[in-house]
Amino acid sequence: MGRGRAEEGLHPPFCVGLRPTPESLRSFDPDKWPIRRFLVDISAENKMVREMARDFARNELAPKAAEMDEKGRMDPDILSKMAQLGFWGIPWPEEYGGTGMDVLSYIIAVEELSRVCGSTGITLAAHTSLGCYPIYAFGTEEQKIRYLPRLCSGEYLGAMGLTEPEAGSDAGGTKTTAVRDSDGWILNGTKTFITNSEFAGTFVVATSTDPPAKTRGITAFIVEKDTPGFRVGKHENKMGLRGSSTTELIFEDCRLSDAQRLGEVNQGFRVFMKTLDGGRISIGALALGVGQGAFDEALKYSQQRVQFDQPIINFQAIQWMLADSATKLEAARHLVYNAARRYARGEDHHREAAMAKLFAAITCREVCNDAVQIHGGYGYIKEFPVERMYRDAKLMEIGEGTNEIHRIVIARDLVKRGFPRHDFE
Ligand SMILES: Cc1cc2nc3c(=O)[nH]c(=O)nc-3n(C[C@H](O)[C@H](O)[C@H](O)COP(=O)(O)OP(=O)(O)OC[C@H]3O[C@@H](n4cnc5c(N)ncnc54)[C@H](O)[C@@H]3O)c2cc1C
Repeated sequence: MGRGRAEEGLHPPFCVGLRPTPESLRSFDPDKWPIRRFLVDISAENKMVREMARDFARNELAPKAAEMDEKGRMDPDILSKMAQLGFWGIPWPEEYGGTGMDVLSYIIAVEELSRVCGSTGITLAAHTSLGCYPIYAFGTEEQKIRYLPRLCSGEYLGAMGLTEPEAGSDAGGTKTTAVRDSDGWILNGTKTFITNSEFAGTFVVATSTDPPAKTRGITAFIVEKDTPGFRVGKHENKMGLRGSSTTELIFEDCRLSDAQRLGEVNQGFRVFMKTLDGGRISIGALALGVGQGAFDEALKYSQQRVQFDQPIINFQAIQWMLADSATKLEAARHLVYNAARRYARGEDHHREAAMAKLFAAITCREVCNDAVQIHGGYGYIKEFPVERMYRDAKLMEIGEGTNEIHRIVIARDLVKRGFPRHDFE
């Protein structure tokens, strides 16, 4: 790069000698500047959802994301506005109150919201992939008719309770018990780290109905909020994604009728593993969005920040960080969108979802790290969004299965089906 982009008139106005302020960055409109977009081909419907989510993120989330992070609480007004726009029912059929759009539209919505506010992104992802999917895929017609319209309208948020204090990666080690009696089932136990709990109307929970059988003794139930014997416990004070609700769930002689059972007795492990296959794509989209958001901030900042009488983007060290970040984000987008398309076509997506989530999670952490580095000391200050995004990024490598567990999932599939996969199809 010979002349600076400043001299070529290609970068937004900046004040030589002054540092960019959060205000100047906020007023910068990337659409007015020739910043290249990194896009994989998507349909007209996908584009429409992307524009809606992007507008919503800019107009509604950007002014509130830092405040929600600071307070450690989701703003309920955001949830209501998302309901008005139909965010809560994107991929579900219209007969159940959904919008009937494809899975990629939903994934793109998670990506775009997360680009500005990861807390809102994970709220939508957990609701759709963990709260709604198991009811849609494994519920009886009565259960679908009872719950999905309320979930799609946003009257209820959805949540899923699999993790327990002593059963995280080893989900088959579920200790919460469901014991059958003449009237139905009695649940006792504790779930931990459950997303959306404080706003949720339904909780799909894993119980042990035959403890010695481990994974073959798990049964899923739908628990409604306000069920006697069930309560939402401690709100976690988190490192990142602080605007999202994460709590314990406590069951103390919680009585459920058999109509609340989701799927067959002792067949619940499959319900949760299938749910996680889809959920991983949505966490991939969350990671992609947070990483893209940090990249957007870093690219803007590097064109505004002047050191040694020129924008820092003139320095090759900065260019390389941006080039590597853009390349990894583009690769992550291909993996996430490919997994979503396989899912939408009803094809097996077990390995693709794991690969997409693993790669997007690592990419997100690395891109956020470089974005803070590009901001120098200002990246360490809360006024600049990359500070929040850097903290948000870490969850991607833990939630819905750690990186280590994803590598186990991928490796097992390689042993089972070889690589490349299409040689065997
Ligand atoms: C913000 C947040 C939101 C969450 N939301 C939900 C939710 O909505 N619903 C829900 O059910 N859960 C949720 N979780 C839980 C999450 O899925 C678990 O934290 C995750 O699966 C890891 O379990 P763990 O925390 O018990 O870690 P552990 O399983 O104790 O793992 C500790 C370490 O050991 C490693 N490890 C464990 N087993 C192996 C192995 N076999 N080989 C190699 N390494 C191993 C792990 O990779 C990790 O590094 C959430 C967690 C967080 C932090």
